[in-house]
Order: sequence, then structure tokens, then C-alpha cells
Amino acid sequence: MSVDVTLWVVFVAALITALATGLGALPFLFVKTFSARWLSLFNALAAGLMLAASHSLVSEGSRDAPWLTLAGMAIGLALVIISDWGIQRRGSPDVSELNGANARKALLILGIMTMHSFAEGVGVGVSYGGGESLGMFISAAIAIHNIPEGLAISLILIPRGMSVMKAAGWSIFTSLPQPLMAIPAFVFVTWFAPFLPIGLGLAAGAMMWMVFSEILPDALENAPSSSVATTVVLAFFAMYAFQHAIH
Ligand SMILES: [Zn+2]
Repeated sequence: MSVDVTLWVVFVAALITALATGLGALPFLFVKTFSARWLSLFNALAAGLMLAASHSLVSEGSRDAPWLTLAGMAIGLALVIISDWGIQRRGSPDVSELNGANARKALLILGIMTMHSFAEGVGVGVSYGGGESLGMFISAAIAIHNIPEGLAISLILIPRGMSVMKAAGWSIFTSLPQPLMAIPAFVFVTWFAPFLPIGLGLAAGAMMWMVFSEILPDALENAPSSSVATTVVLAFFAMYAFQHAIH
């Protein structure tokens, strides 16, 4: 481990990645009303962004450890099914201005996005263990990729009645595990590194489930399936291009 990187640098870098997530809510400052059809297409856009995020998590994990990534995906699938069942059984708690079915959906997406931030926080910490330039590169990549993730979260929350500022706050909240996990991962890099692919796979498994169980069915409610499908694929393209443009 290089000694020139201080804990402070790691923490600030990971904090910046978390704050970047809030930027995803900002387009909604300019969009005030939503027709049912646009709402459906927003869901399709969120679905495409989340699928692309899952793809990047899986490809990141499988570069070093494909089987651990796969094991993580299985754990993620199990966890999301159990959480969904638990939330349904206990009734939907209110999340900010949301209630009922909207709150259940919001809680699931917030839970999954928060979970996947743990893996990304470990990624930041582990990469700083490999030196400051690697750490800065990975942090910048994660910060930029967090913006469309904040957008995906806001696309779910804002059309269902949450204010832009609160949605930005919740988006940042889902990324708080990044500064929290980066520090221990940096200090105990040899201990954390082997778990990284499991965390990445876990988040991808849960996110893919969320897309098909919750988000696409909503998308198909008020827009024709061909428009929904086109939006999903274009969103995937955009996120993929975006991520590779910064690499
Ligand atoms: Zn992410």
C-alpha cells in the first residue's frame, strides 16, 4: 500500500462521489408536469440506466473473479426477494411524500441503490490501496457514473410526488456508503479486496430483479411496448457510451 495517500484524501474523494449522485435530480428543476405517457417513458429510461449499471457491475466483477461475481448475483437475488416479501408483509411505510405502493417501490429502489454503493465504496478504498492515481481515476469514474444513477432514482421518486430537493437528498443518501466503506476498505485493503466481486454481483442481481419486477411493468402501463423497449435500449446505449467515454 502506498503511504502517500492519506485517509483524508480517500474520504474526500468518496464523499465527492456521493454528492455527485444528487446532481441526477437536477433536470427535474426544469420539468414540472408529467403526462402518463412521459411517466411511463421515464420508467423505461430508469430501467435502461439500471440495466446498464448492472452490466457494468458484472463486467467489473468478472474481470478478476467471475464465479464470485456470480455467487454475489445469486445472493443479491435472494436478498431482494426476501426484502420485497418483508416490505409487503409489514405494509408500506411512508417514505417522505410517498405512500402505499409508491412507498414500497421507493423503499426497494433506495435499498438496492444503497446496497450497491457499499460495493462501490469498497472499490474506491481498494483502488486507493493501489496508489493515488488509480484511486483518483476510479473515484472520478464512480462519481460520474453516480449522476445517471441519481437520475434513475429521481425518475422513480419525483413523478410519484417527491420534491426535487428531497429526491436529490435521497439520491445522495444512497451513495453515503461510499465514503463510509472507502476508509475501512483502504485500511484493510487485503482483507476487503476478495469480497469486492461478491458485492458487485450482489448489487447487479438485485438491480436486475428490480427492473423487471417493478419498473418495466410501470413503464408498460401508459406507453406502447415498442416505445418502452426503444427507450430502454437507448438508455442502455447512452449509459454504456458515457462510461466508456470516461475510461
Ligand atoms: Zn453504481
